[in-house]
Amino acid sequence: MVSILIFIAALALMVQAFIGLTFFISCIWEKEKRATVFAGLQFLGMLALVVVFFFLREIHFFETKLGLALLIAGLIFGALAAFLLIRKATPNQRALEAARGLIVGKVKRHDEREIVFARNRSLRPDSEQYKLFYKEHPEYEEFDAKRRKMGGPLGHPGTIDGPHQGSNVAATLASVSIPLHLSAPDKVKPQAYPELRGKKISLSPEEATERVKGYARNLGADLVGITEINPLWVYSHRGEIFHENWKDWGKEIKVEHKYGVVFAMEMSFEMVGTAPHTPTMIESMNNYAKGAYIATQLASFIANLGYSSTANHLRNYEALMVPLAVDAGLGELGRLGYLITQDFGPRVRLGSVTTDLPLLPDKPVDIGVEDFCRICKKCAVCCPSNSIPLEKDQTVVNGMLRWKLNAETCFEYWGNIGTDCNICMRVCPWSHARTFPHKLILELITRNKISRRLFSFMDDIFYGKRPKPRGAPKWARFNTGNMDEIKNPARC
Ligand code: SF4
Ligand code: SF4
Repeated sequence: MVSILIFIAALALMVQAFIGLTFFISCIWEKEKRATVFAGLQFLGMLALVVVFFFLREIHFFETKLGLALLIAGLIFGALAAFLLIRKATPNQRALEAARGLIVGKVKRHDEREIVFARNRSLRPDSEQYKLFYKEHPEYEEFDAKRRKMGGPLGHPGTIDGPHQGSNVAATLASVSIPLHLSAPDKVKPQAYPELRGKKISLSPEEATERVKGYARNLGADLVGITEINPLWVYSHRGEIFHENWKDWGKEIKVEHKYGVVFAMEMSFEMVGTAPHTPTMIESMNNYAKGAYIATQLASFIANLGYSSTANHLRNYEALMVPLAVDAGLGELGRLGYLITQDFGPRVRLGSVTTDLPLLPDKPVDIGVEDFCRICKKCAVCCPSNSIPLEKDQTVVNGMLRWKLNAETCFEYWGNIGTDCNICMRVCPWSHARTFPHKLILELITRNKISRRLFSFMDDIFYGKRPKPRGAPKWARFNTGNMDEIKNPARC
């Protein structure tokens, strides 16, 4: 009997030391200096336990009354701790109802003309649309005029990364050109290939779903989900104009399609790790380019099957991507206003294709984000423009419960530093590298409150409350010389 207990205890100690070792290696691989030191100390502590245990076994300590009592107590404690971490808590019903679960009042469809990007990218001071818009919304005019003076879409070149910014901005703009090319009307609302026009390929919803998801993955999507479209997530009016297509500005957007195929592409851990420096901006635009590539081909594939489709990507959004993705079961809405997925956290960009091809919708997921965000708050603490709310609970905004990101101050900060920031994405504990120990931790976080509290606390210990940016690959290096000269310097 005692030898069985010794065997179980030895096995448990070896397993915890092995996990400690993998975490230590993971921290070295992640190039996280602080976490490497703490993980190294933790591993040494775990190893010491194993050595002491085997020493005690050698001197037959566990065959004494005290030794046996300690062995049993240790095993009970270990089993209890494991049970508390692994136990699956009652599901969050709100999460299982997806974005609809957050609705508590009357929700007005969003008008794309009012979003900060559309105002700054599309409205030119000498245009009719400019006069029309600011007559109706004088509250934005002064702020937008100030923002436009900061320069191009991402602010003055050279703002944050000094002499090295030029090359990284050049790489970013190379990617921006792809969604622009793929935003022409025949690309975002494609016709079938001439030989296929007027024919419908008959597919059951099961087979169509399998083929559409498989094709999207084959094109490079990392996650794919399907939802029936809630009309509330479709913009009411068009606000972003490209190709000088001014006749579309202010045009009412009809809810044409019943289904949305929503996909996510992982953003590189290494590049996002540099946020708010220019390499993170290269990665954002690289992913938007991938999104345009996937969305337009997927829309074309569906058109060739004989069904109507619309590609949604950086230069042609007809719907809000995040609630669509939540409904399609890709993840939950986080405090930082992004989708949080179990596989990559918020470190993703989204795209979608809407269609009338009958498909099978996916089920929403409860991965514990709402509860974890209540405890964590790291993105809000680190946000240099105070754009993410710090309140424990969500508030009601446009009939929905949410932590409302202040897109105006966030975008203003982008202009100050000349990149798209991404600090909130970098510091989020869900954004860590997808190594074995992090996958294990995230699995436990999905299960119950105790795990969430424990791992939020440990994230602060190992990575710090305000983690600093990591270095970039050599080809995308930057210098940090200008940080102190910038208004609102980054706090993390
Ligand atoms: S991108 Fe930067 S400024 Fe904007 S919310 Fe995130 S941390 Fe704040
Ligand atoms: S940093 Fe923390 S609070 Fe912010 S989105 Fe991530 S988990 Fe939620």
